[in-house]
Amino acid sequence: MSQQDKIALVTGGSRGIGRTVALKLAVQGARVYVNFVSRSEAAEETVAMIEKLGGQGEIIKFDVADYSATQEAVKDLVSNDGPVDILVNNAGITRDNLIARMKEDEWDQVMDTNLKGTFNCCKAVIKQMMKKRWGRIINISSVVGFSGNSGQVNYSAAKAGMSGLTKSLAREFASRKVTVNCVAPGYIITEMTEAISDDAKQKMLSEIPMGTLGVPEDVAAAVAFLASDEANYITGQTIHVNGGMYM
Ligand code: NDP
Repeated sequence: MSQQDKIALVTGGSRGIGRTVALKLAVQGARVYVNFVSRSEAAEETVAMIEKLGGQGEIIKFDVADYSATQEAVKDLVSNDGPVDILVNNAGITRDNLIARMKEDEWDQVMDTNLKGTFNCCKAVIKQMMKKRWGRIINISSVVGFSGNSGQVNYSAAKAGMSGLTKSLAREFASRKVTVNCVAPGYIITEMTEAISDDAKQKMLSEIPMGTLGVPEDVAAAVAFLASDEANYITGQTIHVNGGMYM
C-alpha cells in the first residue's frame, strides 16, 4: 500500500494510537502532519521517529476543539504544501464520571474535542478533497460508541455522534471519490487506558473473547487500509478493532 506524494494530517498524532498511525502512513510514503495541543516534546519525538524510518513528518499544533484555530492551521498547511489527501480524526479525550457526578464542563470538553473537533477538521479539508476528486477521512471512534459504558455518557455520546457524522459525510462526498469511514477500537494499550485500575482491566479482559488488550498497531493497520486505494469502494463504514469484544 503506497501513499507516495500524499499529504496526511493525523490529529493527536503525537502519542498513542495517533503516533502509530502517523508512523505507518509515513513509512508508506505520505508526508505526515503530526497534530497535538499541549505536549510538544511528544510531537517532536514522533517526527524524529518518522525521520529515522526515512519518512517525512511535520509538527502542526492546534486545538481541534477551536474552530478558527483549526481552519487557520489547515489553511497555512495547504498554502505551504498543498491540499490534505488523508485526514485521520484521532484526537480524543476522556472525562469519565457517572452522570450523577458529571459536571457540565466534563460533558462540554469531551463533546468539543471528540465530536466538534472532528467536524472542525473535516470542514477544514473537505473542499480541497472535493476539488481533487480524491480524499480519505478516517474517524477514530470507539467500541463504547456502539455498546455504551457506564461512567462515559459524554464519551460514548461523542463517539456515537462521530458515527452519524461519518455516514452523512460519506453520502455527501461519495460521488467525488472522497471516502469517509470509522475505525472503532476496543481497549488498546496507550496512556488513555493506563489510567484504568487493575481490577477494571481484569473485568475488561473477561469481556474480550481474544483475552488480551489491543496495541496501537492493530488500529493503525485498519486506518492504513481505509486510507489506501485498495479501499476505494468502502465508504460510510466502521471497522471494529476490539478482539471480538463487540460484534
Ligand atoms: P492518548 O491519550 O494516548 O493521546 C491523545 C492524543 O490526542 C494526544 O496526541 C493529544 O495531544 C491529542 N489531543 C487531545 N486533545 C486534543 C486537542 N484538543 N487538540 C489536538 N490534539 C489533542 O489517546 P489514545 O491514543 O489512547 O486515543 C486516540 C484515539 O483513540 C482517541 O480518539 C480515543 O478516544 C480513541 N480510542 C482509544 C482507545 C484506547 O483504548 N486507547 C479505545 C477506543 C478509542 P497532547 O499530548 O498534546 O495532549
